[in-house]
Amino acid sequence: MKAPVLVIPMLKVSGMALFPFILVRDKGMLADRTIIDHERIHLRQQAELLVLPFYILYLINYLFNLWRYRNHHRAYLNIVFEREAYDNEHNPAYLGNRKWYSWRRYF
Ligand SMILES: [Zn+2]
Repeated sequence: MKAPVLVIPMLKVSGMALFPFILVRDKGMLADRTIIDHERIHLRQQAELLVLPFYILYLINYLFNLWRYRNHHRAYLNIVFEREAYDNEHNPAYLGNRKWYSWRRYF
């Protein structure tokens, strides 16, 4: 699936997946394979969870991690969806071989 990528200069983060779009902060990131592949993994996670439940689980996982680690950055990096995306963002073949609900392996 080739996701449409939108450049949003006011974005607070470098990239973001907002199904069915990938948002990036500036044009230079359009060529950044790592950022695009990271966000494509999130789009796949969102699609298999029918989008809204993804955001709910993402938030619950973040809040649980924040309680556990007392640190925003560690809480964010340990969200299961982020762990899968960071673990595989450098592997362009990942989505082609990925099994459904692979993020569950990152709990
Ligand atoms: Zn991410």
